[in-house]
Amino acid sequence: MESPSLKEIRSKVEALEKEIRLQRSILEMIPEPFFILDRDGEFLKVNPRGRELLGYSPEELRQKAFMDVVPIEDLIRVRDGFDEMRKGKEVRFRTQIISRLGERIPVEFMGVLKENALFIMLRDLKERMEIEEELERTKKEFTEKIRERDLYAREAEVIRDLYKEKLKEIEVMKEEAVRLSYTDDLTGIYNHRFFIQQLTLEVERQKRYATPLSLLMIDIDYFKNYNDAHGHLAGDQVLKAIAILIQRGVRQSDIIARYGGEEFSAILINTGKEKALEIAERVRKNVEEARFPHERAQPNKDLTVSVGVATFSTSISTLTDLIREADHALYRAKKGGRNRIEG
Ligand code: GH3
Ligand code: MG
Ligand code: MG
Repeated sequence: MESPSLKEIRSKVEALEKEIRLQRSILEMIPEPFFILDRDGEFLKVNPRGRELLGYSPEELRQKAFMDVVPIEDLIRVRDGFDEMRKGKEVRFRTQIISRLGERIPVEFMGVLKENALFIMLRDLKERMEIEEELERTKKEFTEKIRERDLYAREAEVIRDLYKEKLKEIEVMKEEAVRLSYTDDLTGIYNHRFFIQQLTLEVERQKRYATPLSLLMIDIDYFKNYNDAHGHLAGDQVLKAIAILIQRGVRQSDIIARYGGEEFSAILINTGKEKALEIAERVRKNVEEARFPHERAQPNKDLTVSVGVATFSTSISTLTDLIREADHALYRAKKGGRNRIEG
């Protein structure tokens, strides 16, 4: 057999070298970290991305086995993976590796046995996990923000409700203040101020619409006597009781007030003389018939009132006229013996 010529050998070697260069460049072109290990897991070949990931030079790697770059907690998982690969299975699992600088890098491990060597590709999950973490963080922050917003909204609502409640309270207080400014403290009926205000309005209304209008002046008989004999507090009780009796004697639409001291007044709206006298008499009778403590000790053996009645007319046509006229009538009732009405 003819031995191969030198030329033939050289061309074969050249072809082989070309093949090796080709393989090396393929390895270098793989964009993921790629490793070829012998069956024991010693490094045979590492592509540039692999070296970059681990941070070791080719010389340093030649002294190492893959297990040297696996952290303790992942040793068993990787060893099992290697066993599977040696049995001819393709494996794929998540693990970590430790770089030269000691950094733990999460990776996806993909490996297979070929030509009695272990081919391993790693996918760096650090970036992906960072993105996932970032996503998780953003999600958490977002949830927190929403929670805070809801909390603020609820707080704002509570404050709004509180504010509304306060406004309502203020409104009630205002109404109460207005009511008080119109009310007599002792008897709870209208006071002199309100009486004058209302009478002014009614007189004006009367002028415009020519509706009848009457006024009662009611004064307790011998009240000084009662006070002197039984004390001011007993007198106050009588004042309160008489306010109620007057209220019962007039109609709902009439306005009664404490004119001052032991004197009361009633504005009888839409009421002519005849009806006014009727109402005055009803009030007088109510008081006469009511039983008061100690009333037998009064000069007339009874606690009574005298009533003066005035009615709006051509000659009595102002507020002052009306009050003066009612006063005069009251004076006549007193003169006439008390416990009477005059008008
Ligand atoms: P007349 O029959 O002429 O009306 O005699 P009078 O004693 O009722 O009249 P006079 O005006 O002399 O006295 C009124 C008394 O009313 C004086 C005061 O003791 C009493 N009086 C006035 N205001 C009050 C009050 O707020 N409480 C009490 N307890 N008494 C009052
Ligand atoms: Mg008096
Ligand atoms: Mg009196």
